[in-house]
Amino acid sequence: MAPASIGYDDTPIIPGTDYHVHDGDRAQPRIVTPGEFSTQAQVGAPPSDAVMLFDGSDLSGWQAKTGGDAGWKVESGYMEVVPGTGNIQTKAKFGDCQLHLEWAAPSVVKGDSQGRGNSGVFMMGSYEIQVLDCYDNPTYADGTTGAIYGQYPPLVNPCRKPGEWQVYDIVWEAPQFDGDQLVKPAFVTVMLNGIVLHNRKELMGSTSHRVLTTYEPHGDGPLELQDHGDLVRFRNIWYRPLTDYDAG
Ligand code: MG
Repeated sequence: MAPASIGYDDTPIIPGTDYHVHDGDRAQPRIVTPGEFSTQAQVGAPPSDAVMLFDGSDLSGWQAKTGGDAGWKVESGYMEVVPGTGNIQTKAKFGDCQLHLEWAAPSVVKGDSQGRGNSGVFMMGSYEIQVLDCYDNPTYADGTTGAIYGQYPPLVNPCRKPGEWQVYDIVWEAPQFDGDQLVKPAFVTVMLNGIVLHNRKELMGSTSHRVLTTYEPHGDGPLELQDHGDLVRFRNIWYRPLTDYDAG
C-alpha cells in the first residue's frame, strides 16, 4: 500500500468510486514496458504485455476462414496475400483490444478504385476497416483506406506511397449482447500512420458490400485479413486486451 503521504484523505469522494480525489491508497497502474516503433527498414517490437499474432516467422497462429491451413506466404518477416486462397483468421479469439498491425500495398501499381491494393482488417471477423492503396487513387469515400466499410469514411487520407509500410493502431470495443438483444454497439478508434481516422465511432452493425446490415449476436471473435486478390503484405501484428484500470 502506498504511504498516505503521497496523497490525500481529506478531499471529496470521486462519484462512483470509493476513492478521495488524489487518494494515496488507490492502486498504482500496472507497469508495461513500451515496445519500439517500426521504421520502413526495420520492424519494431511490441509492448511487454502484448499478445503476438504475427511476428514475421510463420502462420501457425492463423487458419483459413473456411477451415484448414492459411494459404498466404511468409517471407522476409512479412506475410503476403496469395490470391485465391481466401481470407485468413487468427486461431485466437478476443474482444475489447488495442490492435496494432502494419501493411503495405504492392509497389507495382495495378488497377484503380477498389481494385488497387485491396485487403481488409476484419475485427471479430465481421467489421471491416478497409485496407486499400488510396495514394492518388479515388474511390467511393466509405471504401477508402481506413473506412469502416460501407458506413463511415475516415476523417482524412494519410496514405503513404504504395510499397511503403503503413501502420494501423486500433482501439476496439466489442458489441455486447444479452441473448439476441444488442445492449452495447461496437465502438472503434482508428489511427493510420499516427493520424486519427475514427474517434470512438459507433458501428451500425457488421460491414458488407452494397447493403446495410445489423448486428448478429456473437461472442469473442478472431482477427481476419482479407484476400481481395491483391498482393498486400502485413507484419508486426499484436494486440493488448483492454482491461479496466482497477482490474489491472
Ligand atoms: Mg477490403
